[in-house]
Amino acid sequence: MDRQKENLSDLISDDLLTQCIHCGMCLSVCPTYDITKLERSSPRGRIRLIKAFAKNEISLGKLFEDEMSFCLGCRACETACPAGVEYDKLHQKTKDILNKRSKFKFQNIILKYFLNKVLTSSTKLKSFSRILLYYQKSWLRKFLHSINLFKTIFPKLFLMDELSPQISDVASDDLIDEISLPENEPKYNVAFHVGCIMNVAFAEINLDTIEVLKKSGCKIFTPKNQNCCGALHAHNGELNTAKELAKYNIDLFDNLGYEYLISNSAGCGAFMKEYGDLLSDDIEYTEKAQKFSSKVKDISEFIIEKDIKLNYKKTNEHVTYHDACHLVHGQGVSNQPREIINSLPGINFDELNDSTRCCGSAGIYSILRQEDSMLFLDQKMENIINTNADIVLTGNPGCLLQLRYGAKKYNSDVKILHFITLLKDSIRI
Ligand code: SF4
Ligand code: SF4
Repeated sequence: MDRQKENLSDLISDDLLTQCIHCGMCLSVCPTYDITKLERSSPRGRIRLIKAFAKNEISLGKLFEDEMSFCLGCRACETACPAGVEYDKLHQKTKDILNKRSKFKFQNIILKYFLNKVLTSSTKLKSFSRILLYYQKSWLRKFLHSINLFKTIFPKLFLMDELSPQISDVASDDLIDEISLPENEPKYNVAFHVGCIMNVAFAEINLDTIEVLKKSGCKIFTPKNQNCCGALHAHNGELNTAKELAKYNIDLFDNLGYEYLISNSAGCGAFMKEYGDLLSDDIEYTEKAQKFSSKVKDISEFIIEKDIKLNYKKTNEHVTYHDACHLVHGQGVSNQPREIINSLPGINFDELNDSTRCCGSAGIYSILRQEDSMLFLDQKMENIINTNADIVLTGNPGCLLQLRYGAKKYNSDVKILHFITLLKDSIRI
């Protein structure tokens, strides 16, 4: 059997390849199709390309690779699809194949190193982020940003620097106890996944989440040495590493005696809910993975499902909400954050036009495909500015970074916050 076909039949089942009925309902929601108006940049077109590739009708070429990397992985097509096409699985598996065959490229080597050698260990990620923090606080950065030369000579590097998260002084898991208790008798036993980027760059949001959970009557288990959930690896063609990370996290949280595993990061939550699928061919882990996935809840989902009512003070903030793709399309969570936001007394909430459209962050898409990412960000910022809101709320670290950069780019005073931050600040003490 041809080597290419052999690999594909291993990785992409016929069930996945034949789900699409070519109805075209997904075209209008696809951000990349919206820009090019080319069939090949649409979900339907990409599925055709993947199928043709799987049947050896087309060979691996620049166009095929480019269309696969142009796709944001936003999953808007899955929400729109009446046939239940699991596009993301097809896309992830194809990227995994492409990744294994990728030719020597400097960018790929750096990316592989970061994904496989840094992002696989919380200790290494912390060391890496310390170095980044020193740079962020150094005179060198101030100097590089004060002269236009950096921007002019290395525009891509400059944008990467601008989009990088501001590293927290202390990682959240160094501040959060392994067991946090509420003031009164606990009503729920939950575990908390600190995330990788959330842990080192959004420590304050993780601390806010713990506070909200404590006020909600939760006993919270936050084991040390948690690792990345593997979502970034899976989206960038490193499925084997993603599986190893999934197994590590399953083992780490095993036997803690928790009912729900809470996530405050859309991408992590969506991916951990899929561990059951990811490890479905691993006899030792299939059952454990399914059990683990069944307990994962986004924080907004948990608050609404348990009908948690907190005592909020009055606020007069004018806010809007951006749906993170992996919350709305990946987990079907969109009403819950809105319900919580609207329950804040005095809040002035305006819907954002095209709120479910990707902001262009898409994991590390904003770094790998900067120009395309900026097109999606420009559309998003135009809609945000049109709301006249003072605050944009969202539920994913990538969106926070991208929209904060967007606010800077557009000289806008709009604040970009995780919705849990507003919630925590609104709780009456
Ligand atoms: S994942 Fe997003 S960008 Fe990719 S095909 Fe689907 S809708 Fe289009
Ligand atoms: S909506 Fe679903 S079935 Fe219809 S063309 Fe798109 S992917 Fe195929």
